[in-house]
Amino acid sequence: MDSCCEAGVADQSDPRRCVACEHAGTRVGLSTLKALLRPAALERLAPRDYYCCGSASCPVVYFGEDAVFRREDVLVPVFQKEAEGGRTICYCFEVTEDQIRREVEAAGFKLVSEGDFLRHPEDTRDFSVNRPTGPVDEFVLKFQKPN
Ligand SMILES: [Zn+2]
Repeated sequence: MDSCCEAGVADQSDPRRCVACEHAGTRVGLSTLKALLRPAALERLAPRDYYCCGSASCPVVYFGEDAVFRREDVLVPVFQKEAEGGRTICYCFEVTEDQIRREVEAAGFKLVSEGDFLRHPEDTRDFSVNRPTGPVDEFVLKFQKPN
């Protein structure tokens, strides 16, 4: 007898589970895919629900019922898929985490610690800057002022 509370094998037909790694996906708006997919990939885009796979080791970025889009289908580096430090944090100006560190260190400050208490890997980074609709992935760097 089946129980609704028993843990089972992931349902392969569940569109919210990544088709490659079974990581739980986060829903993304169709406008995000329209803005970020390369032209060839856009031809495969249908007006359906799509999800983002946040697993760093998985090549799939977006997936839906009948389409999968991988890193090479996306115009920009995908934050969740890049190595820590080299991830783009501002797509308008193409600023990475490392660039921020280098700039502050070039001004004479010394990095003394980092905090990950504001990290939210489930952040899909597809919302308007001024109107976040979900958890916001942020990081904290503590620098020491030069003497
Ligand atoms: Zn995946």
